[in-house]
Amino acid sequence: MEQQIKKGGISVQTEHIFPVIKKWLYSEKDIFLREIVSNASDAVTKLRRLASLGQYDNGDEVYRIDVILDKTAKTLTVSDNGIGMTEEELDRYICQIALSGALEFVEKYEGENTNNGIIGHFGLGFYSSFMVSDSVELITKSYTGTPAVRWVCGADGNYETSPAERKEHGTSVIMHISEEEAAYLEKYKIEEVLEKYCAFMPVEIFFHVADEEDTEKKDPEEPKPINDTTPLWQKNPSECTPEEYKEFYRKVFHDFREPLFWIHVNADYPLNFRGILYFPKLTNEYESIEGQVKLYYNQVFVADNIKEVIPEYLLMLKGVLDCPELPLNVSRSYLQNNTYVSKVSAHIVKKVADKLNSLCNTAREEYEKVWNDIRTFVEYACMRDRKFYDRVKDSLLLELTDRSFTTAATYLENAKGTHENTVYYTSDKAAQAQYISMFEAQGMQVAVFDKQLDVQFLSILETYNTDVKYVRIDADVADALKSDEAVAEDKTLADLFRKVAGDEKLTVSFAALKDASVPVLLTISEDSRRMEEMMRMYAMSGMNLGMNYPTEATLTVNTISPLIQRLSSMESEKQEKAAAYLYRLALLSQRKLTAEELQRFLSDSYGILEML
Ligand code: ADP
Repeated sequence: MEQQIKKGGISVQTEHIFPVIKKWLYSEKDIFLREIVSNASDAVTKLRRLASLGQYDNGDEVYRIDVILDKTAKTLTVSDNGIGMTEEELDRYICQIALSGALEFVEKYEGENTNNGIIGHFGLGFYSSFMVSDSVELITKSYTGTPAVRWVCGADGNYETSPAERKEHGTSVIMHISEEEAAYLEKYKIEEVLEKYCAFMPVEIFFHVADEEDTEKKDPEEPKPINDTTPLWQKNPSECTPEEYKEFYRKVFHDFREPLFWIHVNADYPLNFRGILYFPKLTNEYESIEGQVKLYYNQVFVADNIKEVIPEYLLMLKGVLDCPELPLNVSRSYLQNNTYVSKVSAHIVKKVADKLNSLCNTAREEYEKVWNDIRTFVEYACMRDRKFYDRVKDSLLLELTDRSFTTAATYLENAKGTHENTVYYTSDKAAQAQYISMFEAQGMQVAVFDKQLDVQFLSILETYNTDVKYVRIDADVADALKSDEAVAEDKTLADLFRKVAGDEKLTVSFAALKDASVPVLLTISEDSRRMEEMMRMYAMSGMNLGMNYPTEATLTVNTISPLIQRLSSMESEKQEKAAAYLYRLALLSQRKLTAEELQRFLSDSYGILEML
């Protein structure tokens, strides 16, 4: 053999790279293993390609990657039987190209906040191994049959190349783990990192712990690879069964509740990306609705929840996205303004909207069943993205008080003749029961909007579509509840009610309601109530408004009620007592009484009982 020992040093301008690499990526050191294992995987992929092109005869060769942890030797080794390198290639790829790549990367991002700067620290490559190693050894043999070479490089950047013993083509990278990074000599740690980054790499990966091999032969079966080389998202959607989708979901997200449904995205050229998005089941509204969307780059995990790539509201979903075209060795701010990225994002949004529409149109029963689970997501998405709203607006369901579902369009169609362009809703079925029964007695439907997000959602719906108003059933006396009969004002009675309410500004109106059994009805205008709710929400209502309802409260006196008719003819002392009692009953059906009001209500009630 002609091979000689060669010494070299990483040149002057690069001398600071090692300390920088070592210290720098403190938050995400784990990625070194991804870089080294994905190099091994690439080496195999290249050899497979040569074989498929007929430039290499691989017979019945089985490709694999072995990750070997040796606690005694304090090494972590990644070994592949891929393409390997000749001595010249080693010099070119490792000592020149990889190094200058790493250098460029470090220089470019040295000033950035590295925690947010670069997505998953993609692009650092082979030299990331120095984050955890005192020295790195590489033994490689090219598939062309040239002699094997050994290369060792210390943390000072000095390396040595020498002949090596290796029969099989491929490469082994032996990382001599440093004292400070001894955590990477723990079995569970390596398992965790492999599981996170390498679970779907396209070449089988086997993990061994050197010392345990012989003593712990509990499992007589063939060792199993730690990865799934053909993840579900790479398959053709028409070839995947619902069971496979559910199984994949359980495995990847460790969520044993079944997903509600899913979307398999398979975008061809020019977007060229694939993925599966799941709608998770929420147990309750207050559960944190932070999902998990994992981004992959050719089956190599990059990072979770990258809001630069998909709209933030879609991060409430769970899923995987594989985007081999993404420019990942760039900063996040670059991704935000990248047209390819925005096209991918728009495509995903469209797919999600299409899925909702198709469920609504062709699987309505199923859609209704899941509506309450996906509703928060859909509402939030609509609020965040007008375009999304425009796509799904016909598939937004309204839940009615009888738990059936309709759409705003159908609701308004049914309402023709009684009330135009207004959707009446309740925010609390129990508290607003009296109003609900009055509406239902007139054959009018009441929608239920009782979720936290709803107040804001309805306001936004009204700005998107100014033709439709959403009015809470206790906000005004709907025309449909009144008969056409003209009614005279009774100034004395109006003043009396203002007096017993202790509010001079209370609007008192007179109407003949269709339902004679309700004597008085208290309503608060939609706008002023929303305003008050907003103020409460922003915790701005520290100021006491000095009254228990905003000024825009209206007391409607039902002139056809027998009680009201009797009230007019009572002698004044009794009349005042009865009016006060009626007012408090109206208040009671509108909202919870304050302690003081309740006290008065009770003592009034006792007084009335005594009269019986
Ligand atoms: P990148 O993988 O992005 O090209 P790296 O710094 O990780 O950058 O690696 C530089 C080069 O070294 C690779 O492009 C490849 O040619 C070579 N290389 C690294 N690891 C291996 C390996 N296990 N087998 C064969 N070649 C390798």
